[in-house]
Amino acid sequence: MRDLVIATRNPGKLREIRELLKETSFNILGLDAFPDAPEVVEDAETFAGNAEKKAVSIATHTGCLSLADDSGLTVDALNGAPGVLSARFSGEGATDSSNNSKLLELLFGVVTSDRQAAFHCAMVLAEPGGVTFHFSGLLKGVILHDFQGDGGFGYDPLFLVREYGLTLAQLPLETKNRISHRGQALRALLHRLEKMD
Ligand code: IMP
Repeated sequence: MRDLVIATRNPGKLREIRELLKETSFNILGLDAFPDAPEVVEDAETFAGNAEKKAVSIATHTGCLSLADDSGLTVDALNGAPGVLSARFSGEGATDSSNNSKLLELLFGVVTSDRQAAFHCAMVLAEPGGVTFHFSGLLKGVILHDFQGDGGFGYDPLFLVREYGLTLAQLPLETKNRISHRGQALRALLHRLEKMD
């Protein structure tokens, strides 16, 4: 059984990815199996750039096939912000709540028709020899003026999916996973992994 290292120190993300990959024939490892693995600075200008940086660095260090992802929100009226800074949008010690407050402040006075946004997810699979495979997903939506729903995480309560008339925080997780940026990228990845094992 071939090892696949998930290049994240986020236990929630590892659990989620492990669950989604459980039907594959890979032995899924977390970074806890590699205590000396380098800390990768996410300073690329794109989601794919950050994901590639993490996947390549961990594949090189571990000698194993490695998977990394990066995701976030872009808002047209903010010229693509928060983008790769989504997790730390409101600065040092940022939380989902402080990030959402900052987003609402910056969009104050912007009418609904000008509040288009999208969630992006980039995933990169890296072979120790340097070969990489890229996967991506995108979900379009609109940033509301107020929070709606208490499911999900991050910017979900402000992100309206027009087709459903509901925010990602109101949609059942099953629906979110089916339509989300991360779900799309993961399905493309699964397709590729099936051909590799
Ligand atoms: P990362 O991929 O863990 O770096 O996530 C970056 C940030 O993007 C998160 O901290 C969230 O603020 C935001 N984000 C990514 N995916 C989602 C999502 O599905 N819902 C809400 N926020 C998200």
